[in-house]
Amino acid sequence: MYLDYAATTPLDEAVLEAMMPYFRENFGNASSQHAFGRRAVAAVDEAREKAAAVLGAKSNEIYFTSGGTESDNWAIRGVAKAMRGKGRHIISTAVEHHAVLHTLHALEDEGYEVTYLPVDDCGRVSVQDAVAAMREDTILVSVMLANNEIGTIEPVGEIARAAKEKGILVHTDAVQAVGLLPLGVDALSVDLMSFSAHKFYGPKGVGALYVRKGTKLGKILTGGAQERTMRGGTYNTAGIVGLGKAIELAEGRRTEEVKRLSALRDHFISRVLAEIECTKLNGGKDRLANNANIAFRYIEGDSLVSALDRAGIAASAGSACASGTLEPSHVLQAIGVPSGYGSVRFSFGKYTEKEDVDRTADILLRETERLRKTDLFARRFSEKGTV
Ligand code: PLP
Repeated sequence: MYLDYAATTPLDEAVLEAMMPYFRENFGNASSQHAFGRRAVAAVDEAREKAAAVLGAKSNEIYFTSGGTESDNWAIRGVAKAMRGKGRHIISTAVEHHAVLHTLHALEDEGYEVTYLPVDDCGRVSVQDAVAAMREDTILVSVMLANNEIGTIEPVGEIARAAKEKGILVHTDAVQAVGLLPLGVDALSVDLMSFSAHKFYGPKGVGALYVRKGTKLGKILTGGAQERTMRGGTYNTAGIVGLGKAIELAEGRRTEEVKRLSALRDHFISRVLAEIECTKLNGGKDRLANNANIAFRYIEGDSLVSALDRAGIAASAGSACASGTLEPSHVLQAIGVPSGYGSVRFSFGKYTEKEDVDRTADILLRETERLRKTDLFARRFSEKGTV
């Protein structure tokens, strides 16, 4: 039973079918001047239009990349490079993905200054804090649309509108949001948006960066003249075709899927919280329709994930560990999950049915009881009486 859709999703059959001709007969290099090249570039352009349509953008505002990590790197490093004449201050949050956080740390080593906004106990950043952090020399605000560990939806639109008034560029990491939240770049008021195909039933190793027309952005990948000279590298035609098909399908079923998944999520959360003692929900109500992240007192997240794995259930400890022997997740630390709790992220998707979440809740009840009796972690905490 696969309950780790936030980590990655299986490739949609229709997406695979759309991609196949670009591995076989239409293998041409999209930059070539002959018929093979023309067929490839037509497919790349069609995918660009599909992605642009979902974002309410123009197709020449979409740039293909190798995934979410590259898109985040490009957005942040690209603005830092292009705007350093204006300033060296960037605002972000404590709960971003490492693709953003580690990029910001690297920029700090180069002399940039970063304000990491704190979050409340639900993982939400405050608009007021964001506005208060904006300065004359602020060049970029980067706030994720939804968190990958606890699913919290951030007030990106409100922050972006305030930033826009001050002439500050805004980037959002929307990697977890495709097919689950509206992505209109005008409604959100963002200048840059990252996404990654493998999170919405597309292939791995391909993503895109939306760049609003007129945004000053430096290059990070120098090479050929691809992507209007902004990002060198032979086109991953099949991957790009897959991204286009996948984003179109994900957006097409979004409204219905969000309704279905939120009902499953709420049913699962209420069963777990009601039936298993000493559990709490990480994150709040305003969360992605497919995310349930639960903290279990006296249980190590990794032990529970392994126990679930042995029972045939794939979930994620979300790098969350409360044992003190492993680094706890920066997201769970930021929301203040108390020590003595281990956390597990369950993320649902297209193939998750009610009987799957019910079976998972049953197995969780059994495994948490067993672990609480046998796990060293549980014993250590109850003996010390620290929790
Ligand atoms: N940003 C977020 C919020 C993510 O969840 C991920 C993937 O886990 C990434 C960025 C990185 O994306 P990719 O795996 O395509 O490099």
